[in-house]
Amino acid sequence: MGGDSFIKFLGTAGARFVVARQLRSSAGIFLKFQSKNIILDPGPGTLARCASSRPGIDASGLDAIILTHAHIDHSNDVNILIDAMTNGGINKKGVLFAPGECLNGENAVVLKYLRGFLEDILVLEENCEYSLGDVKFRTSVRLAHPVETYGIRFNLAGKNISFITDTNLFPGLAGSFANSDILVINIVRFKSKECPRIMHLSVPDVKELILAIKPKKVFLTHFGTTMLKAKPWKVAEELTEELGVNIKAASDGMKVDLEG
Ligand SMILES: [Zn+2]
Repeated sequence: MGGDSFIKFLGTAGARFVVARQLRSSAGIFLKFQSKNIILDPGPGTLARCASSRPGIDASGLDAIILTHAHIDHSNDVNILIDAMTNGGINKKGVLFAPGECLNGENAVVLKYLRGFLEDILVLEENCEYSLGDVKFRTSVRLAHPVETYGIRFNLAGKNISFITDTNLFPGLAGSFANSDILVINIVRFKSKECPRIMHLSVPDVKELILAIKPKKVFLTHFGTTMLKAKPWKVAEELTEELGVNIKAASDGMKVDLEG
């Protein structure tokens, strides 16, 4: 699958308590896809984790940043990463992909003075295709979350690698991720929620999604307190047994090679 392509989970924290106390790192996900270096959802600590990662990830070597939404645990380090990626604007380069809400309006998160440092800013909309050189991806339908957000589906040498980020379960969610070979799911909650305002996936939701999508491999991440208490690796083992699908819990610094 394109030589040394891999995914590295710099952080696996989700929800405010886990992020605020850094029970898990809240850094984003580093994607080395073919020749491109991409950061997905740079939460707090992403730049620091790039530097402390072994081997180190040189932020000036990034080609793109993808924000799925403006929430702070997904976007906090976007500005410092733009600055680092472009060497303070000296090397005008790199592409930012983000929903319109991250760029315009009262909750915009990208500082105006940094925008000109980038080679391009592309607005994410639902069910659209994007490319970054030889790396292609498409967005899902709009997810069910308090702010504008989309899942991301990469196609890498014929394999589909999908990210279901923050959302509630809703009809049409699984269909939007059909034919995923590798599926990364943000699972904040252990139990289904009593309160419909909590727009995050729980274990029962994830079971339903995996049974409908039938991916070859699943990685769980973005854990809230109840997931950490339940021990994500145990949850993953039990789900693997129950569903007959290879399911793993991500941990901070975990690298997933995408060979073959
Ligand atoms: Zn969110």
